[in-house]
Amino acid sequence: MAEPESTVINTDVKQKDPSEALVIAVTTRAIFNLEEEHQLYLEKGKEEYVKHQQANQDKPLPPGTAFAFIQAAQYVNKKILESNPAEKGLFDILVLSNNSPESGMRIINSAKHYGLEISKFCFVSDEDSTQYLKSHRVKLFLSADRTDVCNALQRGVSAALVFQQEVQAPSTPLRVAFDGDAVLFSDETDQVFQKHGLEGAMQYERAMEAVPIGEGPIKAFAMHLGNMRKKFSQEESPIRTYLVTARSGRDMGIRAIKTLREWGLAIDEAFFMDGAPKGPILAQIQPHIFFDDGLHNIQGAQGVGVPSAWVPLCC
Ligand SMILES: [Mg+2]
Repeated sequence: MAEPESTVINTDVKQKDPSEALVIAVTTRAIFNLEEEHQLYLEKGKEEYVKHQQANQDKPLPPGTAFAFIQAAQYVNKKILESNPAEKGLFDILVLSNNSPESGMRIINSAKHYGLEISKFCFVSDEDSTQYLKSHRVKLFLSADRTDVCNALQRGVSAALVFQQEVQAPSTPLRVAFDGDAVLFSDETDQVFQKHGLEGAMQYERAMEAVPIGEGPIKAFAMHLGNMRKKFSQEESPIRTYLVTARSGRDMGIRAIKTLREWGLAIDEAFFMDGAPKGPILAQIQPHIFFDDGLHNIQGAQGVGVPSAWVPLCC
């Protein structure tokens, strides 16, 4: 089998160390709004798409759903370097794209236009671009393509799907909100709930109280973010983390809190919603990104302009 073609363009003068950095990979459609262009690609094919992108290569693309998150990560890097110029544990952003290098020029120019610090642009012709995630030590992958996300999750990389949506640009610090079950945690309690209802799930939680909940698909990323967060005192931190879960605090909060403690994952604020809609609290938190496995919660967040990332359970 032929080696897949890929072109990697390094744009970061000061190379980050991938063994210490928190590497985030985003696809072009996650970071920029390419919906019109994508439509053109689907309707008229690759050639027309490439022509269009070349003709418009100096016209910056509008920001996409993950844009504000990447900008806020850049703010965190600045704050980390202010407190320790030698620090290597920084965010390292790479763009993974199925664009050819020719059509990718517009992507690079757009990133430059907004002053985005992207260390690598990977233009890969391969169908499954997620095979590059492990070699780049990617800790979080955001894509607008469900197959990409499923492939990444199957490779054991924290990954989520973003949809094009209206985003209220939040102010810094970087705020990241996580759902609990099937996101930070495994879906074991969700499964009991589906089989035996709320009473059954509560009984299960009581019986299992001393046992930490299994690990969910976004846990690895949350741990890396938590470690970065620990470099600062709570008041000075450029990162704030939130748990926004449908669990009730009274009956199902203890095991969740114990699990986070067991993992050493410090969460700044936790909201046990007892099944209530998450939109209103998310509107108040204004996270740069919110991870959930429930599409109704994603829609609720989108409805209040919160950039949302869906973690599909069944790929
Ligand atoms: Mg959930």
